[in-house]
Amino acid sequence: MRMLSAALALAAAIGLSATATAQDYPTRPITMVVPFAAGGPTDTVARLVAESMSKTLGQQVVVENVGGAGGTRGAGQVAKAAPDGYTILLHHIGQATAATLYRKLPYNPATDFEAVGLVTAVPMTMIAKPGFAPKTMAEAVDYVKANKDKVTYGNAGVGSASHLCGMLFMSSIGTQMTTVPYQGTGPAMNDLVGGQIDLMCDQTTNTTGQIKGGKVKAYAVTTKSHVKSLPDLPTMQESGLKDFEVAVWHGIYAPKGTPKAIVDKLNAALDVALNDPKVIARFADLGTEPEPKDRRSPAFHKDFVIAEIAKWKPVIQGAGVYAD
Ligand code: ASP
Repeated sequence: MRMLSAALALAAAIGLSATATAQDYPTRPITMVVPFAAGGPTDTVARLVAESMSKTLGQQVVVENVGGAGGTRGAGQVAKAAPDGYTILLHHIGQATAATLYRKLPYNPATDFEAVGLVTAVPMTMIAKPGFAPKTMAEAVDYVKANKDKVTYGNAGVGSASHLCGMLFMSSIGTQMTTVPYQGTGPAMNDLVGGQIDLMCDQTTNTTGQIKGGKVKAYAVTTKSHVKSLPDLPTMQESGLKDFEVAVWHGIYAPKGTPKAIVDKLNAALDVALNDPKVIARFADLGTEPEPKDRRSPAFHKDFVIAEIAKWKPVIQGAGVYAD
């Protein structure tokens, strides 16, 4: 009996201290892992949101780039971090596609995280190095079919959005190109602008400036509708690629077991960021907008990840692309 009450007292003390920790949270800087290189599209979204969240939380939210393995290195690191709210992840659609793409993923994207909230869904653009011969998406399709693996396609590794877009493209035209993986599409963009690689499909958060500045050639957007900030670009579907549609949603995650009160604080700070006129204006310049209010809750985000894993599974299996 005495042992039982001691155990109960201990459990209560642990519960109380978890509550107290959650109440004080955060008392020191928070690391936001971005699973891709600095200077890329995911990094851009993360830094905008982190700056606003820092103000709301009263502690710095410091972005740390942990690139490699299509985002699975950084995500895996956060899955194994202490569930105390001081290490969080900002990842994109790759959180869902990796579940099928990787035969041996050392974490479970659906169960090893607490979903904090969705951030933004970003259109992608199919772009080419300056001086690449084809003038339109249709011409580029013919060119790739004729030149096959002589054409180089840059991406951020298996599991990245640029990989997914390229995989959809290659399977819809029935031709393989040579893929060149990077730690993120920030460095891949440098090589595209420099003419070292031919093609890339990447988020507008990385490509808008380069397209508008004439540094790359742009063929099409991957969303069903046109992108306001790039009004002249046709959609992939208008360019003859039937059913081609992908938008790169981003979300924030904490390691599984992070107290709900901490997740709620992070979610509230994210909500402030997504209502911030400066963030909204910058997102608009970059071809995107915050997720609408009804899609920002942890509960919606959690179910959404599960639904996206199910949505992409048959597509990936159909393409037959896997990584170990
Ligand atoms: N968003 C890019 C991708 O998934 C990676 C990056 O953010 O650098 O391809």
